[in-house]
Amino acid sequence: MYRFAPSPTGDMHIGNLRVALFNYICAKQKNIHFILRIEDTDKARNIEGKEEEIKEILQLFGISWQDYYIQSENLKFHRQMALKLVSEKKAFACFCTEKELEEKKELAKQQGKPYRYDGTCEKLADIDVLECEKPFVIRLKKPEKTINFSDLIKGELSFEPENIDSFVIMRTDKTPTYNFACAVDDMLENITCIIRGEDHVSNTPKQEHIRASLDYKQKISYAHLPIILNEQGVKMSKREAHSSVKWLLEQGILPSAIANYLIILGNKTPCEIFTLEEAISWFDINKISKSPARFDLKKLLQINREHIKSMENSKLNQILNFEKDLAELAKFYTQEASTTNELKDKIHAIFSPKDYLEFEKECQILKELLSDIELFENYDDFKSYLLQKSGLKGKNFFMPLRIVLTGNIHGPELNDLYPHIKNFIHELARM
Ligand code: GLU
Repeated sequence: MYRFAPSPTGDMHIGNLRVALFNYICAKQKNIHFILRIEDTDKARNIEGKEEEIKEILQLFGISWQDYYIQSENLKFHRQMALKLVSEKKAFACFCTEKELEEKKELAKQQGKPYRYDGTCEKLADIDVLECEKPFVIRLKKPEKTINFSDLIKGELSFEPENIDSFVIMRTDKTPTYNFACAVDDMLENITCIIRGEDHVSNTPKQEHIRASLDYKQKISYAHLPIILNEQGVKMSKREAHSSVKWLLEQGILPSAIANYLIILGNKTPCEIFTLEEAISWFDINKISKSPARFDLKKLLQINREHIKSMENSKLNQILNFEKDLAELAKFYTQEASTTNELKDKIHAIFSPKDYLEFEKECQILKELLSDIELFENYDDFKSYLLQKSGLKGKNFFMPLRIVLTGNIHGPELNDLYPHIKNFIHELARM
C-alpha cells in the first residue's frame, strides 16, 4: 500500500503534489492500493475547507484513491496503543512542565550542548495514567540500539538513540503527536512504502521505533524526496506564489503540464513531454536525484505550451470556454502565449472591437472591404486583392490590416496566421 498523507493546514504546495504523484504512480505500477489520509490531528492548524480542496486538486490531476481515512477518526487506536506502551513500560507518563523543560533547554544551550530529555519522569514509580489528574504527556523511551533504514533515494541511513531521545507520543490533551499518529496509522493501514519529502527524514527513525515498540514486524521501504529550491536556489517557501498548486492552476497552467513538470523535476526520464498514464509505464523512483531540484517556471511554461498543442481540439475549446472552434487558432498562438489565460486574452483581442490608433481611416477602408470579401484560400490572394482594392501601401496597409485582424500592432506573421482566421474574416470586419 502507498499513501498520500496531507495535513489540511494550508494551500497544496508543489512539493506535496509531487509526493502525491509519485505515490500514485508507484501504486499503479504495482497494482496495489493508493490511500488518501487526511492528517488532521493538529486541530489548531487545520483550516476549514482545505480537506475538500485537497481532494478536488487530486481529482483534477487524475489521482484517484481506493481508500480514504481521516486521522482523527483513529484517535481511539492511538490512545489504546499509547496505553499499551505504558503498560509494557516502553513508554512513561511525564509530568515535567513547559517551564521546567524550557529552563533545561536554555541550560543546554548555554553549555553549547544539544538538549536531550534527562529522564526525570522515567524514574518515577508506576502510576495509573487512567486515574491520574495531574497533567502529563506520554513519552516513548528512547531506543536501545541504533535505528537503521534504507532509503531508495538517500541509501542507508542510521540514527543513534541519543538523537532520537525519549520523545512525546501523546500530548497533555490526550491527542497523539504527529509522529505517533502517523506511525500507528501507517501500521494499521498496512503501508509498505512511504514516499514523502525529505523534511521528514528525521521523523522516520522515530516512527520506526514506535512500530518496533508495538512489535510490528512488516518492513516499510522509504523514499525521501529532496527539497525543491526556488529560482534563486533557496528552499521554496509555502508563501511563494509559484509554489502553490492553486496559484499555478489559476494562471492557466494545465494539470497535465504541472504533473509532467513535477515528474521531470530532479529526475531522469526517457522523454520530456508525456501524460501521467505514460509516466506510469516507465517511472522509476530510483532515478530521482539525491540533490535538491530547482523550480524553473520557464520550463513549466514551455511544457504547458506543448500540452496545449497536443490537446484534443474539443477539450481545448471547452477549457478556453470558446463557443466556436478556435482551438487551432489558440494552438497557433502558443508561439506567443504560454498559459490558457494568456491565450484567452490573445483570442479575445481578435474578436473584440479594435483600437485603430493613428490608422482610423485605413482601418475603416479595410473593414469595408473585408465585410464582403470572397473567402480566399491563401493569404497571398487575400493580400493582393486588398492591396489592389484599398489603394493602401506599405506600413499604411500592413499595420491597419494587422489591427483589424488581431487588435494588436505586433504579433505573428499574417501569412502564418491567415489559415487560422480565414473563416472568421467577415465576423472580424464587423468588430
Ligand atoms: N502530514 C504530513 C505532511 O503533510 C505528511 C507526513 C507523511 O507523509 O508522513 O507533511
